[in-house]
Amino acid sequence: MQQVDTLIHPQQILTQPGQVLSHHSLAVKEGKIVGLMPTTEAKKHFQAEHEYTLPEHLLMPGLINAHTHISMNLLKGLADDLKLMTWLTDHIWPAEAAVISPEFVNEGALLAMAEMIRGGITCFNDNYFYMDGLAELVDQVGMRAVLAECFFKFSTPWSPSPDQSFARTEKLIDFCKQSKTVRPAIFPHAPYSTDIPLLEKIAAFAKKHDLLIHTHLLESQMEIDEYLKEHGQRPIPLWHKLGLIGKKTIAVHMTHVDQADLDLMQKSGASVVHCPESNMKLASKISPVQSMLDQGINVAIGTDGAASNNDLDLFGEMRSAAFLSKVSTDNPESLNAQTVLEMATLNGAKALHWEDEIGSIALGKAADVIAVDLNNVEAVPCYNPTAQLVYAMPRSNVTHSWVNGRILMQDRELTTIDVPALLKRTQVWQEKLKIHAK
Ligand SMILES: [Zn+2]
Repeated sequence: MQQVDTLIHPQQILTQPGQVLSHHSLAVKEGKIVGLMPTTEAKKHFQAEHEYTLPEHLLMPGLINAHTHISMNLLKGLADDLKLMTWLTDHIWPAEAAVISPEFVNEGALLAMAEMIRGGITCFNDNYFYMDGLAELVDQVGMRAVLAECFFKFSTPWSPSPDQSFARTEKLIDFCKQSKTVRPAIFPHAPYSTDIPLLEKIAAFAKKHDLLIHTHLLESQMEIDEYLKEHGQRPIPLWHKLGLIGKKTIAVHMTHVDQADLDLMQKSGASVVHCPESNMKLASKISPVQSMLDQGINVAIGTDGAASNNDLDLFGEMRSAAFLSKVSTDNPESLNAQTVLEMATLNGAKALHWEDEIGSIALGKAADVIAVDLNNVEAVPCYNPTAQLVYAMPRSNVTHSWVNGRILMQDRELTTIDVPALLKRTQVWQEKLKIHAK
């Protein structure tokens, strides 16, 4: 008998979209998957410290939220039904100016992590401010994440000059050296909120530290018009010349692309993150995801921040992505269930350059897995688990979550976050913030 840390016996294991094993078990040691075999064999081979028998559950890879601003969870519902720039400049930025601090960042993040774990998300790609401090909190909670400090061309109360943001990024990089689940990146906010000297510095810094470059790109026509007026070209070709578009680039939104933009993205090996609900809510147009995938561009999926969504529900986001693609291409075959589930798992892992460890269930990969209850009225009958997960499954059917082999939720109880205390503190933040509400 081989001693392992954890053994899980579910009814089914979806190793990756479209591939399901029945009556198999998963063995985990030191965070890694060391056994994947029929349950009868697993019970003979392994002895575990923790054993979970889940005869009515499906085990699957944890979902990857490839773009979010988790600390903005405290701004959820603060201002809705507004144009992007009105929403940002009249509501979100003034509210942030009044409250942003390391404490605000960590409290919003904790609320978001509780929501994400309860919704089956095990990994997220985040950007905001004071990320050096947030990295420690994410590591304690146990979620997997890529974190990036956000850079603007203008000074803010929390970052009077970009030097401060570079210093925080240095600290973030240092912290991540000893973390198994948190990695650093860098985040130039968007073409309209940065300038060329800052972008040149960011490109050099990213190259020196071999960082992922995560950014908002082509979310509005305004940013393209400004670039054409000031620089005589669209953002993507100029950013490519600056060294900001390459295989380590994660470009979010991409709703105003032309064919030359897509050709350059494809040639450079950059990834795209599609945020369908944020795009619909802010009327930012529809990203041509099917064309990007057809062209061989890696497209992942993200919720964006809760302030423009207003939830961090990747099950809902998958459904929205599928429906939006079908209606916009006039083709019900576009973005089928398997494709959107790949976007929320394998493609997210590829965008984060973490596909050797996450995105699917396989021997040697990290045990980032979730269990979904199949035995309730929302989940039955189930002819095709992949389609059921995308088109019918509420996120509340997720009952268990493990990241790197550590259990973060058991029978819907979070193991690393004190939810009643968090709810009480959130009430205090709501009182502080309500003067900025629309
Ligand atoms: Zn965003």
